[in-house]
Amino acid sequence: MNSIDVRRGATSASSAYYDLLCPGRHLMQKNVPAPDAEEETPEQAFGRRVHEALRLSDPTGLSAQGQKIYEQLKEMEVKALTQYFGPQAPEAAKNVSREQRYWCMVHNRYEHSGAPDVVYWHGNRGLVLEYKTLVGAADAVVNQQLRDYAVLVAGYYKLVEVGVALLQPLQSTEVELVIYTSDDLRRATREMFDRVTLSNDPNAPRKPGVEQCKYCRARSICEEYRRWAAEGIPVDESTPVATLITEPMVKLPVKDWPPAVKKQFCDSIERVQAAFKWWENCKAEIVEALRNDPNAVPGWTLKKGAVRVQITDPVKLWEKFSADGGKPEQFMPCVTIQKAKFTDAVAELTGLRGRQLEARVKVYLEGCSEEKETAPILVPIEKAKGKKTIDNTV
Ligand code: SF4
Repeated sequence: MNSIDVRRGATSASSAYYDLLCPGRHLMQKNVPAPDAEEETPEQAFGRRVHEALRLSDPTGLSAQGQKIYEQLKEMEVKALTQYFGPQAPEAAKNVSREQRYWCMVHNRYEHSGAPDVVYWHGNRGLVLEYKTLVGAADAVVNQQLRDYAVLVAGYYKLVEVGVALLQPLQSTEVELVIYTSDDLRRATREMFDRVTLSNDPNAPRKPGVEQCKYCRARSICEEYRRWAAEGIPVDESTPVATLITEPMVKLPVKDWPPAVKKQFCDSIERVQAAFKWWENCKAEIVEALRNDPNAVPGWTLKKGAVRVQITDPVKLWEKFSADGGKPEQFMPCVTIQKAKFTDAVAELTGLRGRQLEARVKVYLEGCSEEKETAPILVPIEKAKGKKTIDNTV
């Protein structure tokens, strides 16, 4: 089921940077239905819960890490409020809106909107704050988004100055305010209007690139994207991989490729996968080179990876949890059991092997497991039948 489009099909601040890079992106995406709502990643779910807690000013139910981020964001919010409004901060604190969507009409023709996390206003000055619960938001994307927010909020509350700040405690707990004066707001408004107008022009050029195409759902139908992506495959004209990229492939969406072109593609899959394997190996070696010498690759460095906590002793964890009164029905939904490891445990317990072991595991799993088929795999018909080709030439 498709989710409701809160942006009413219009441009919005959250995609402002991408629309700036590719003016044709907005209308092109309208040709592709929005995908069904996807399951949230754990990071998205974490961010949503913290945002929700901040909106309701109620951290109940957040994890320890969530509570910590919640408290940090609250403190940063107060810091930003005091920093921007000074002695008027207590008065400004009374005028607050959270996650409200602000709309404007561009040249009386095109709707445009944005929904900042928090807005405070007092007199003719306003403050826009955006929370980020994780690290890694691209500066350019956020700056363009905050710039649009400043314009939208200024228009709505008739402000002559707007301060904006990104609150991202995992990056820094300092608050860095950017101030839009009335001149800045005028310029930002003009640029926003120009961008939105162009985004609504059916003749707007489509300009492919890494950032704007990454999340663009028009990739499957966009010829500019295909040509650009194909150019990025560094092949020598004389190699077999070069014959892969043919004009019909680049010109047409995959669904419209003639059967012969589809076959040509499938026939090359293993060859291309081998090429990518080599590509990945090169990448791994470059990472290693940078580990040993930070100057090994001009202009590139290694950014610290995310820290993931792995639970290594579930028994100890359960003991601590139950000692605090935790119940099995609260603990067990956190536990994932791998069938292969469980089979090993059954083998150790019963001493069974082979078919007898399989049968015993099956009995164990009855009524407490479900079978799920993974996505089908693309293979030649011979392989699907399990047919072996015997080479009888000497
Ligand atoms: S796929 Fe890339 S080039 Fe094509 S419309 Fe989207 S952003 Fe623009």
